[in-house]
Amino acid sequence: MLCKRVRTMRVLFYYRGIENLGVGYLMSMLKTHGHEIDLIFDPGFDDNLFLKAPALKWMNRHEALLERAKAFNPDLVAIGALTNLWPFAEQMATKLKQTLGVPIVVGGHHAQALPDYVLSHPSVDYVCIGEGEIALLELANKLQAGEDTTDIPGIWAKADGLAIRNPMGQLENDLDKLPFPEKQLWYEYGCFHDNLEVFTGRGCPFKCTFCNIHYQREIFKGSGNFLRKRSIANVIEELKVNLSKYDAKTVSVHDDNFTTNAKWVEEFCEAYRKEINLPWYCFGYPTTIKPRLVNAMKSANCMTVFMGVDSGSPEIRKDLMERPMSDDLIYNAAKTIQDAGIGLQVSCIYGIPGETPEQMWQTLEMVERIQPTQSSAYIFYPFPKTKLYSKSVEMGYLDQAGEEMVHKGVSGYHHESILKHPHKELAETLAKTTPIYVRAPDSLKPVLKWMINNHYKRLALALYVALIPITFPYLGLEGIKVTLKMAWKSLSSWFSPNEPPRVTEDSERLAA
Ligand code: SF4
Repeated sequence: MLCKRVRTMRVLFYYRGIENLGVGYLMSMLKTHGHEIDLIFDPGFDDNLFLKAPALKWMNRHEALLERAKAFNPDLVAIGALTNLWPFAEQMATKLKQTLGVPIVVGGHHAQALPDYVLSHPSVDYVCIGEGEIALLELANKLQAGEDTTDIPGIWAKADGLAIRNPMGQLENDLDKLPFPEKQLWYEYGCFHDNLEVFTGRGCPFKCTFCNIHYQREIFKGSGNFLRKRSIANVIEELKVNLSKYDAKTVSVHDDNFTTNAKWVEEFCEAYRKEINLPWYCFGYPTTIKPRLVNAMKSANCMTVFMGVDSGSPEIRKDLMERPMSDDLIYNAAKTIQDAGIGLQVSCIYGIPGETPEQMWQTLEMVERIQPTQSSAYIFYPFPKTKLYSKSVEMGYLDQAGEEMVHKGVSGYHHESILKHPHKELAETLAKTTPIYVRAPDSLKPVLKWMINNHYKRLALALYVALIPITFPYLGLEGIKVTLKMAWKSLSSWFSPNEPPRVTEDSERLAA
């Protein structure tokens, strides 16, 4: 596909719901290499994947986003899509194609898992099948130079209606080479308030069957190191730069699994304690939780560790989730975190194919016995290409209609089960009640059990929403503040609809 040469590439990004650090990296990569960027951020008030509120759809202000897109006059549109964001992303792709008529590239988990499906969308011209920094930059450079764009590693292209499937591109082994992710555009949309998100590395060594990590490891085989860490100095520098601009009070380390490389974490904690020392939050895997590690984390002001329990049934964990660990190991890991004086958030999943009501109750009992500071509970969603997706099909829990729903990205792990599961009502009620149940006084537990046994899902959802400030004292409150801030930003754009297109510092520099 030969393209018209343009003087400076303008790349418009679209994302929905919350800040995405991965998209932030893509934006900063292009900006650093001289391209102009802008973001149209859809707050998704009607469905932010966490809660549905169709009556608030008008607050998304899509017409204002399209006006901003037109004013920016991009040469390329880049859309990020998790599986459950695809229904919204594909609608926006159609609108942007109609409005702008420029090439559209889609990346993110859904594009990675189902590249042929996403590329078959009439408005999509390219799909990024791997990590996007290098591939997207090459696409932008080639479009700018008017060169052929059908041979870029990591990018599948459409030419004359046919898919051109290029091999996976190389992973960037040295993460320090990447520019710090864009923050300012997200900030202007109100996407963060008191909390700064950061990645200290990429990849995870484990193979949970419900997660995309195991197939990512397969598709990246031979393309570089899947497990990578940034240098400690580089992470600290990013935090310092951002703290000089934003008044953050906490830090979320968003690595898939922060606690796997104990030596790196201990050294990081030492530097973080001296240079940053804000309360922080991270993800940890039970087998990696050791007293020395968590003591180092505590001394660096670690406030909360998020740890997956996932199921209270050892059989489900071993046979279906590939998380082969004993109950005792999980209890000990939880106690190690709690003994160090760190808050513990545990998560679990209900509605796994083949899961019985007894096994679901076992999960609630385990979470209750752990007594975490807070807990998250999800409804199993069969993400495409995962082992548990295939298992769901094999066991007859996901029929053809269900598979189509997954391809379309319908529903999500906070909404409802899309499996043909005989106990889905119980799973959905438990998912909404667990965070409340584990923090409820004993006197209220019989009432909550009655609500679960009768599958009072709507009541459970209403309580869940009303009690977010209590059941999720840290990220729940941040979520509320961010939602209010996004709403304010969205509504205030109503009163200043003719704002000029945003000019970044870099585009000013280039113009000069
Ligand atoms: S530990 Fe977390 S990130 Fe790693 S494979 Fe399991 S669910 Fe995925």
